[in-house]
Amino acid sequence: MDHPLFASLPPEEQAYLLQLDERYQFSFQQQRQLIESACDLAMWKAGSLKMWIDETSCEHVSGKKRAGALLSDHLQRMERERSMPTRYQDFEVEQRFTDKYRSLFVSTDKLMGRCPCPVDGEKTRCCNLKTLDVVQQCAFGCSYCSIQSFYNSHEIRVVKNLSQRLQDLELPEETWHIGTGQSSDSLLWGNDYGTLDALSHLARRYPELIIELKTKSHRSDYLKLDLPMNMVSTWSLNAPTIIEKEEHLTATLQQRLDAAKQARDKGRIIGFHLHPMVYFDGWQEEYGQLIEEVTRSFRAEEVMLFSLGTLTFTKAVLRQMRADGHQSRILDMQLTPASGKYSYPLETKERMFRFVYEQFPDAWKQGTPFFYLCMEDPSLWEPVFGFSYPDDRTFEAAMKRAYQGFLQQRRSRI
Ligand code: SF4
Repeated sequence: MDHPLFASLPPEEQAYLLQLDERYQFSFQQQRQLIESACDLAMWKAGSLKMWIDETSCEHVSGKKRAGALLSDHLQRMERERSMPTRYQDFEVEQRFTDKYRSLFVSTDKLMGRCPCPVDGEKTRCCNLKTLDVVQQCAFGCSYCSIQSFYNSHEIRVVKNLSQRLQDLELPEETWHIGTGQSSDSLLWGNDYGTLDALSHLARRYPELIIELKTKSHRSDYLKLDLPMNMVSTWSLNAPTIIEKEEHLTATLQQRLDAAKQARDKGRIIGFHLHPMVYFDGWQEEYGQLIEEVTRSFRAEEVMLFSLGTLTFTKAVLRQMRADGHQSRILDMQLTPASGKYSYPLETKERMFRFVYEQFPDAWKQGTPFFYLCMEDPSLWEPVFGFSYPDDRTFEAAMKRAYQGFLQQRRSRI
């Protein structure tokens, strides 16, 4: 079989597929679908492809149609599995992903980018976040992470002369918020490479600019640095089951919340992202408890932002994950086309987002924190939040008002 993923399958799966192909003479597209299924089942530890194929399902047809009937029955089984909440109770990951360390100082022409929303912006509601790729690659091992497929996995690449580069950087007038978490985890390295110092000069030169440091770490030593107030720390949160099974080597939920408390106690501005939410068996219980814990530990006026989002994959990332074949159940989900990528069906997303938003007490829904859906279909806003924005510009303007208002209020207290 010519498909590039065929070679990444275990030998016994390859042998089975070759025998099957001999009997049914699949087309290239049919072979691709079967190979992808075999890759997915191996990652999910859900048995061999043979267990998901029923050759009696095509007994009623003859000739070339047999291949189609067999495949269609198989895909229906897979779809039934995908549409159910992912089960993690019987899923133990034997092999954790390894640390990836080898620091490399690189010169790069391109320092700034933009968030991965589609450019026309009307398929997702986009806040127009600009990105600064000061460190590239991450030492955590989230199974769903697209960053892993961008860079050589054993090299942590740090921009050479970052301090000078940022001193020379002239930001376009419309740039008001920048994230450094698109190419790595923003705080995992702390200030080890001097990145936070360098960013702090930029933040001081542009006092209205918000620089967001997004993390899944529990690092807090950076709190000793004299960072300006417009450098904001945010934590990506998730259910304990997802952290344990899919976000390898990251801090636990409790460690992340403790790190956020320490930052809050130091007077820093903080925020949270519940992203990517996963539709798994137990999601309501665990996400419900998570919101309870957040609202018990923090007051609404201490949190600048709270975003919600789910899993979204590009074709390239799906291909990479299947080729890598790490044990993971993250792709045990319906892969519905969504603005050039693949994600849960809208109904599933709406159920999860609505549920989570409903768990917040009313005191949290008075403008602070600023709630938003990250990279999601605009039609979801109204049913989830009871409000929406007519276009990206209005959304971005509302976010800017909220963030900068929060910042001014903080500064006025000092
Ligand atoms: S922490 Fe972020 S950058 Fe690092 S592996 Fe996870 S998703 Fe990727």
